[in-house]
Amino acid sequence: MKQKKKKTSYAPETHLIYGKSFTPKWDYSHHLIPPLSSSSTYRMDSTRRGAKGFIEFAHHVDGIDVKSKAPIYIYDRLGEPNKEMLEENLAAAEEGDCAVTFATGMASISALCGVLVGSGQEIVAHKMLYGCTYSLFKNWYPRYRIKVHWVDFNDAKALERAITPQTRLLYFETPVNPTMELIDIANVVDIAQRHNKQRKELNRIYTAVDNTFASPFCQRPLTLGIDFVVQSLTKGLCGFGTDMGGVVIGPQWSYDQLLMYRKDFGGVLAPKSAWPILVYGLPSLAVRYRQYIQSAQRVAEFLEKDRRISMVSYPGLDTFPQKALARAQMIDFDGKFAPGCLLYFIMKGKTPVERKKKADKLVNFIAKHSYTMTLAVSLGTIRTLIEHPASMTHAAIPPEEQLKRGVDPGGIRLSIGLEKAEDIIQDLKTALNTR
Ligand SMILES: *Cc1c(COP(=O)(O)O)cnc(C)c1O
Repeated sequence: MKQKKKKTSYAPETHLIYGKSFTPKWDYSHHLIPPLSSSSTYRMDSTRRGAKGFIEFAHHVDGIDVKSKAPIYIYDRLGEPNKEMLEENLAAAEEGDCAVTFATGMASISALCGVLVGSGQEIVAHKMLYGCTYSLFKNWYPRYRIKVHWVDFNDAKALERAITPQTRLLYFETPVNPTMELIDIANVVDIAQRHNKQRKELNRIYTAVDNTFASPFCQRPLTLGIDFVVQSLTKGLCGFGTDMGGVVIGPQWSYDQLLMYRKDFGGVLAPKSAWPILVYGLPSLAVRYRQYIQSAQRVAEFLEKDRRISMVSYPGLDTFPQKALARAQMIDFDGKFAPGCLLYFIMKGKTPVERKKKADKLVNFIAKHSYTMTLAVSLGTIRTLIEHPASMTHAAIPPEEQLKRGVDPGGIRLSIGLEKAEDIIQDLKTALNTR
């Protein structure tokens, strides 16, 4: 296991409110809240300052930070104070060296792969990924002659077999969307490390986890030896459903490359989107997730008792098949078990067609009549969201394939928000009881 970063005497949730408090990123020391900065370009008082700014951008050579104490901002696409303050706090939340934000989660995933993997090289990915990541790997990377091998990451032998001398990246999500199956992060790290012992630095295999489903409150893969974490800020980190964003968190050496990539490919996070995540999303992360988890546990236990439901998958349930792994891997800043805000359940029915009909009916009733649940994709927001993966988020996968990959036509995904758990349960009861 990687050495934990040295901690200050303050808890992570406290840091997520104040960040570095008086950051050199911007002099706003007479404000309580960092002002929303909005300026596409920056005034220089001399060409000398301009020249210095260009030299310093993305130039942290071999651990020597050539940046002056206060950064010289040049142009928003290169950097600006709101997202740099957010990046400091995101790196702290994930216990990583540094973070670079992007316009969306997908922009951060394509940037990470763009920095690590080139033409003729390969990615090994878990067989089930977020739909757009799947499409990126499947529909676009063949054009760049990047090959993607799809395997079950819980099958160590299959994972071993998929690794070739060209492999650059092992990429996965845990919990897996939508089934909530977990992947043992430490096992994947072990396999990569074993291969890396016999490889030159240039051919090193990197590991990356999309940590969007758990959020850094419930799981910090970098502390288990993972090289990179990506997050869609759009979900639990923003938390209020107002803005889109993405981030890559990783080792210090990757910082300049990610900045250069962002500068040239251009997918920057707008300061107007960075600000609410910095000011509302991160400071409320811990208190929101503690409440989400408490309610999700109650809703999961309620659903598990209902005779019209055949299976409930929530890492906090006693019946969860990977209970031991969940308790070891999904832990909050205090080391407490933190099974997250998402749960998945399947309607009872003899045939896939019958199950699909029942799921459709329940979700459509909720969409029209439930006060506490909204039919919508996304997750981790203060409002409870419900969706039907087989016809929505996972519709790109043909029906026969869906079942093989564990997406049941009768499956329903819930992301629990901040409503009273009793109210969500009451609305679920009403929907289940309506024939
Ligand atoms: C939403 C999501 C993404 C993509 O993020 P965007 O901000 O929508 O681009 C990637 N991975 C997972 C697991 C997600 O839920």
